[in-house]
Amino acid sequence: MTLALHGIGVSGGYAIGRAQLYSHARLEAPHYVLRPEHIESEIARFTAAVESVHAELLALQTHIPGGAPTELSAFIEVHALILSDSMLSQAPKKRIREEACNAEWALAQQTEALIAQFESIEDEYLRERRHDVRQVADKVLKSLMGHPGHAPLKSVAEGESILIAHDLSPSDMVLFKRHTFAGFITDLGGATSHTAILARSLNLPSVMALHNARSLIRENDWLIVDGVAGIVIVAPDNAILDEYRLRQNQWLLEQKKLRRLKTSPSITLDGAHISLQGNIDLPSDVPQALGENVDGIGLFRSEFLFLNRDDLPGEEEQFEAYRAVAEGMRGRPVIIRTLDVGADKSVRWMADTSVNPALGLRAIRLCLAEPQIFITQIRALYRASHYGKIKILLPMLASLSELDQALTLIATARGSLRIENIPFDAEIEIGGMIEVPAAALAAEWFARKLDFLSIGTNDLIQYTLAIDRTDDAVAHLYDPLHPAVLGLIDHTLRVGQKMGKPVSICGEMAGDPRLTRLLLGMGLTTFSMHPAHILSVKQQVMRSHVGELAPQVRKLLRAGRPERIQEMLERLNNSNTE
Ligand code: PEP
Ligand code: MG
Repeated sequence: MTLALHGIGVSGGYAIGRAQLYSHARLEAPHYVLRPEHIESEIARFTAAVESVHAELLALQTHIPGGAPTELSAFIEVHALILSDSMLSQAPKKRIREEACNAEWALAQQTEALIAQFESIEDEYLRERRHDVRQVADKVLKSLMGHPGHAPLKSVAEGESILIAHDLSPSDMVLFKRHTFAGFITDLGGATSHTAILARSLNLPSVMALHNARSLIRENDWLIVDGVAGIVIVAPDNAILDEYRLRQNQWLLEQKKLRRLKTSPSITLDGAHISLQGNIDLPSDVPQALGENVDGIGLFRSEFLFLNRDDLPGEEEQFEAYRAVAEGMRGRPVIIRTLDVGADKSVRWMADTSVNPALGLRAIRLCLAEPQIFITQIRALYRASHYGKIKILLPMLASLSELDQALTLIATARGSLRIENIPFDAEIEIGGMIEVPAAALAAEWFARKLDFLSIGTNDLIQYTLAIDRTDDAVAHLYDPLHPAVLGLIDHTLRVGQKMGKPVSICGEMAGDPRLTRLLLGMGLTTFSMHPAHILSVKQQVMRSHVGELAPQVRKLLRAGRPERIQEMLERLNNSNTE
């Protein structure tokens, strides 16, 4: 029976394919088909991995230090019991034999099935054991990945698969970059959660906040993901499939037309040069940014170098990453934001104890609490500045004392490089993110001490409206057009103009072509967004006349009621100035 589920479309386009239920291991695990003669040795590889994890647990158990909590021993015992259970230690062998698949994949599938069983248990204590199952399976998976088996007969195509998850973390999304799913959908999440931002960066049609898709959809169901309208159609009939294939083709055609703008200058009808810059997450994103002809990198979210690992990246590793981006951008400016972990971007080395992580020890707050982590990053950034045009951006500033402390630590790092005679760009610019309402209201004070400001609208909206950006239950209240939000952006832009300090926007608002004219009319001249949105924003820029927009936008900023603002925005977008 055909079923339509409604959520939030976070990344445009249409995907048609078969459902693959998510498991974390599935993203980590490769999937390939084995030659029949390799099946027995694959089973032996799996057995060896289970045995090595057993031995590891035994060694841990016998070497528990004297002062360790008594729970530790019980904890290891539970893991050993889980590992011995035939559901984990035997069932994957059956899968390898029956599906001729590699051991990692068989384990990932079996883990997912087991976890689904645990999730349906009423008793909370027992249900929570699913996390132990995951941890034990991860250990076996790691052991397998350290001892690769035979070459695959063939890789299994993911191109037509749609990943279904209850929730995906930003760390999971980074792993996505290595896969080629056609689209994905989740039950949870808001439109500007980091998961959604990464989804946009992958340019995959995706819908989030579907509430119960994960329990309604079965493995291999046919699905249509309509990332434009935020709809997922389960088991579509032929007529619906035909209709969506048509829409998919039209969408692709429009994207192709947009490509013609790639080399066109980003200039408004009245001659204003608008700088369109790219947001990236990893050095490997540079080619895509260059492919869209960005004017520079307006936001490199450096924290993605810190996810999916047990340790911290050292100075050398960070230096290489920043240098790669600086050199890769061939002289164009690169704004690298210092570590912004916490909230939805959790890292393994940081205890997750915050009661309300979005308001907790996040971003610059964490860096000031752990100055060595910050100084290491600053040293790496300064060293890399010798190889390109790097600027440093400080996230989540709320009070001037934080800025003062950060600047002192930066001076310390700079001083240490001088003593060591290590070259760096002495003129490196330091900017601050305006993403906490307090910082927006006090923008003038921050601007005095900084070289530039960058408005992070994702957090600015979250903190102004008290809407958790990751919570699908309040996603409908997350409103970029709220007069308070527009007022804070406008105030920050005016402060920048008055004080001669450049102000850009690097939050998702900058990449939304429906808001381009509004922001142009407010006086914004630098937009930073995911490279995939550059051309549609450029198209708006080229159709706009800032001089004509400005008075209309002033009127809009004075309108308080949401319906009125919406109506005026539509008029703004539809007025023909060409
Ligand atoms: C923002 O908050 O708008 C921003 C650009 O930073 P992030 O989305 O990484 O929090
Ligand atoms: Mg932010």
